[in-house]
Amino acid sequence: AELDTLDIIVLGVILLGTVAYFTKGKLWGVTKDPYANSLLNAGGIKAGKTRNIIEKLEESGKNCIIFYGSQTGTAEDYASRLAKEGKSRFGLETMVADLEDYDYDNLDAIPSDKVVMFILATYGEGEPTDNAVDFYEFITGDEPQFSESNDPPLGNLNYVAFGLGNNTYEHYNSMVRNVNKALEKLGAHRIGDAGEGDDGAGTMEEDFLAWKDPMWAALAEKMGLEEREAVYDPIFSVVERDELTKEDHEVYLGEPNKMHLEGSAKGPFNAHNPYIAPIAESTELFAVKDRNCLHMEVDVSGSNLSYQTGDHIAIWPTNPGEEVDRFMDILDLTEKRHNVISVKALEPTAKVPFPTPTTYDAVVRYHMEICSPVSRQFLSQLAAFAPDEESKAEMTRLGSDKDYFHEKVAIHHLNIARVLKVASKGKKWTNVPFSILIESVTKLQPRYYSISSSSLVQPKKISITAVVEKQEIPGREDPFRGVATNYLLALKQKQHGDPNPEPFGVSYEITGPRNKYDGIHVPVHVRHSNFKLPSDPSKPVILIGPGTGVAPFRAFVQERAKQAENGENVGKTILFFGCRRKSEDFIYEKEWEQYKNILGDNFELVTAFSRDGPKKVYVQHRLQERGKEINDLLEKKAYIYVCGDAANMAREVNATIGRILAQNRGIPETKAEEIVKNMRAANQYQEDVW
Ligand code: FAD
Repeated sequence: AELDTLDIIVLGVILLGTVAYFTKGKLWGVTKDPYANSLLNAGGIKAGKTRNIIEKLEESGKNCIIFYGSQTGTAEDYASRLAKEGKSRFGLETMVADLEDYDYDNLDAIPSDKVVMFILATYGEGEPTDNAVDFYEFITGDEPQFSESNDPPLGNLNYVAFGLGNNTYEHYNSMVRNVNKALEKLGAHRIGDAGEGDDGAGTMEEDFLAWKDPMWAALAEKMGLEEREAVYDPIFSVVERDELTKEDHEVYLGEPNKMHLEGSAKGPFNAHNPYIAPIAESTELFAVKDRNCLHMEVDVSGSNLSYQTGDHIAIWPTNPGEEVDRFMDILDLTEKRHNVISVKALEPTAKVPFPTPTTYDAVVRYHMEICSPVSRQFLSQLAAFAPDEESKAEMTRLGSDKDYFHEKVAIHHLNIARVLKVASKGKKWTNVPFSILIESVTKLQPRYYSISSSSLVQPKKISITAVVEKQEIPGREDPFRGVATNYLLALKQKQHGDPNPEPFGVSYEITGPRNKYDGIHVPVHVRHSNFKLPSDPSKPVILIGPGTGVAPFRAFVQERAKQAENGENVGKTILFFGCRRKSEDFIYEKEWEQYKNILGDNFELVTAFSRDGPKKVYVQHRLQERGKEINDLLEKKAYIYVCGDAANMAREVNATIGRILAQNRGIPETKAEEIVKNMRAANQYQEDVW
């Protein structure tokens, strides 16, 4: 039979939809560098970038590529630090490359006088980061097909490897371990050890520093490199544009890309292009004065954004004005903060991390992670620009003496501006080139939140449950405050016309660039996750989520209640929740009762209040008390879900489940642990931890 036009159109649409689904939107230009336009304007780089790394190396004269697989920006940051160090200390011609921007089938054609570095984060349950999925599948695949037929295939390749992981996860640093194994198997030559950084132990930065020095020594020997006096060689030029003012239309005041600048933002909305979403509602969930937990409803009905129960929403924060001012002040930028600048990459492989022309103020407020912990390496680098000899000596010491750094900087949670101020005793740092700040201060990262609503119940309204980060630091006048959660708190206070808003909160530029976020908007995108309810609702589920770890479980229970109302057969749902006190931080207390009314005996909430009784009780203790029941449910193929604190809770829960199996099935603990492992592999045991 012939297809008529309508059939063809319908088929075409289905096909396109399928392609979009399986390519995660890559064909739609989603992964295109969002700043390509500004770079094009600024740097005069040819359009139509090559995916051929050899071509790229040749045309740019590089001999060291640093590939990164990064989710939250740390691996990317380490990659660019290595690039800078390689160049300034050894005169290597380095380039940083996003793994998803290149093809890998010609890794075998990279000549042996060049070196390839892999800086690879492991994400979630031992997964590659989004930008490294294709590379990982290629290199660890059965028989990767390369362009030449060398034997061994990668016999010419010299590589260096460092992984970023978290030892609280089962598959610790599996990305770098597996890639390293695969490369060795293909005959590639590793230089130095394959390093591993551990975020779980809080030693990532120190692990990185400890790994890189011997690596450089091995590399210098292998490639016959001479170390030279480190010289600062800027990667970016910063040009003041006196003919422009911040009122000019072409000047970016914090808009994330050109569409946003031109007021024509449209989807797809993703990690390069946020949707400026209205906040429909915001409420406080805690019943205490000094701690806050926010519930927010983000309205995405004006966009094509969609989500599934269990996904994450990313919030794009703005820096607090107080910290922006502090940064401007110590670097002596206050007077010219609103001057217009253009930033150009001085070499073709560098990307300007924000669109320009822009202003100093906009860069610092919207694009730099100015509040985060500082690295010792950066302090050493800044020593050269100190205002006097004394500050220079202090910075050099902070950079090289781990214990001194710990005592003076780390324990006080100082950010870069605060460190500079302490180190120079308040003297302004007038000599620091702005380019070094662009190069070394990480890009401001979106923060992820486990969506606390069900997409079945409210497909176009995304709920967030976020505890506001505020810590008293001994010996410090003001508390330490998290960037994104205090920004959300400020938005909430604004929405409620709070007569006594937090003084800190007031300083946020809540209305956004050119007031585009006014009327309480927040830039967001959605990240899909594998944390999913069983497709068959009649399966029992065991949910373990203390504190804000309960966020996705509010969504799960909401969904199951709706399914029950729709007449579906919904299995048992047992939720373990824990907090400090019933009267203080028992979030969604009333809501659970409503779900109970709908789900009846099929829903049970088990609580652990750690500070209400004489003894501290946590969720894992409650689990243990219910050991027999848990074991019975697991025998009925129940699914277990754990969400929240990765460092302690998730590990304790894992151990407890093992113990329960051992006790109730009369098997050795090692056997029980094996069963838990298999449950994880079969997605019967899922974690969403941070
Ligand atoms: P940040 O400013 O990012 O600070 C966070 C922490 O970093 C601080 O507590 C501190 O330990 C450290 N830090 C920052 N700056 C310094 C410094 N100068 N010196 C020393 N230490 C420093 N949170 C929720 O509340 N609810 C959720 O549902 C939720 N879901 C998540 C899901 C996922 C997949 C992930 C990855 C995280 C989730 N989080 C959730 C955590 C959330 O993403 C944020 O990390 C959290 O809200 C803090 O963000 P912030 O910007 O306020 O704090």
